[in-house]
Amino acid sequence: MDLAVIGTGYVGLVAGTCFAETGHKVVCIDNNAEKIRVLKEGGIPIYEPRLPELIARNVKKKRLSFSTDLAGNVAKADVVFIAVGTPESEDGSADLTHVLNVARAIAEAITAPAIVVTKSTVPVGTAEKIKNVMTQATKLPVSVVSNPEFLKEGAAVDDFLKPDRIIIGTDSERAREVMSDLYAPFNRTNNRIIFMDQRSAEMTKYAANAMLATRISFMNEMANLAEKVGADINKVRQGLGSDPRIGPSFLFPGVGFGGSCFPKDIKALLKTSIDNDLPLKVLQAVEDVNARQKTVLVDKVVACFGDNLKGKNIAVWGLAFKPQTDDMREAPAVEIINALLAKGATVRANDPEANEVAKRTFGDKILIDDDPYQSLEGADALLVVTEWNEFRRPDFERMRELMRTPYVFDGRNVYNPDSMREMGFTYFCIGRR
Ligand code: NAD
Repeated sequence: MDLAVIGTGYVGLVAGTCFAETGHKVVCIDNNAEKIRVLKEGGIPIYEPRLPELIARNVKKKRLSFSTDLAGNVAKADVVFIAVGTPESEDGSADLTHVLNVARAIAEAITAPAIVVTKSTVPVGTAEKIKNVMTQATKLPVSVVSNPEFLKEGAAVDDFLKPDRIIIGTDSERAREVMSDLYAPFNRTNNRIIFMDQRSAEMTKYAANAMLATRISFMNEMANLAEKVGADINKVRQGLGSDPRIGPSFLFPGVGFGGSCFPKDIKALLKTSIDNDLPLKVLQAVEDVNARQKTVLVDKVVACFGDNLKGKNIAVWGLAFKPQTDDMREAPAVEIINALLAKGATVRANDPEANEVAKRTFGDKILIDDDPYQSLEGADALLVVTEWNEFRRPDFERMRELMRTPYVFDGRNVYNPDSMREMGFTYFCIGRR
């Protein structure tokens, strides 16, 4: 099939590349000319493991190309995917401006009946809005399919090629057949496709993210209580996760969730609930707990050094919102660093992949080091904010020698409290004494 994917970000670029990998001819379209220029010249605008090799192979085989020309490419496509951003509006709802603009542009460009598939995360009822916008701009029949994406940044290629589930919301028999055909290569061992109506498909994505965020906030509250009562949250987590009804995934306490999805999707679902006179109280608490958790590490720093951090050099390891990505959207590190700066501290930081993004985010407010040990020179404290593997087994002796005072605030529980103390560090973590 000829496919057009509009929006060449974390979702669109991965989806387009993986469809090309299964033999389809895919054009990835974006209105960001710089992004398309980088891709055309063989570069990759984001960090995502395995993606560079797959892109290079499919470009070489002429199955994958990049363009800023929406109209010209959509007219030739059998299926058009919308994978543009749906950022948070001022009132918390998902901003559909990009999605609806693209829908209108697709309608104006098509020359035959079209199948338009929404991959972006959009509130319940958006498929109908897209259809309305499109039918105002074309007389040709249009099928709108809701096909939310569940990939995780950092493992996006694997997630896309081996999905747990493929949610397809449609009321069109023809679209159902085409989507089954399209996903057949990812669906060979077990049937992973779940068909449903568009509204249920749209809601499934929000419910999934809300459930995952709930687990995180729940564990963060348990961790804070464990710390107070002298329990070890790591032990509690193991005991808890061994119940098959609970399971071990997503039970790690830390410095709160961030990223480009959970915070905005939770806000959007809360807004939907309020608009429908049914406020979601559990989810509101999830959000409140998360906001508080993002201050926990800085609170511990203040408890040691006082509220005025003037003259204190703080090193931060980990800036991306999670390991294996360069994405810093809503990353806890941003809030933590801004709080340290507001209290007068000097901050040096390192991330294995997000250094360039961090330089754009912070400008000259902090120093970004190429080497994590550079950040420790003369440091009064180290804050570990993202649990990259690189930070799990560092040269502790070298760390201690470089630091002015060996205080470590471990926001991800990556080190062992006993051995840290034995090595001479003053060590703080989450949910363990
Ligand atoms: P992104 O910001 O990385 O990419 C979006 C792209 O769309 C950008 O490159 C932007 O330039 C482009 N764009 C915006 N308006 C356009 C237009 N009018 N024409 C052409 N291109 C346009 O976003 P993302 O992280 O890929 O997320 C996209 C959607 O997928 C969002 O709704 C998000 O919630 C959802 N989602 C994201 C993830 C994730 O892990 N990032 C996972 C599942 C779902």
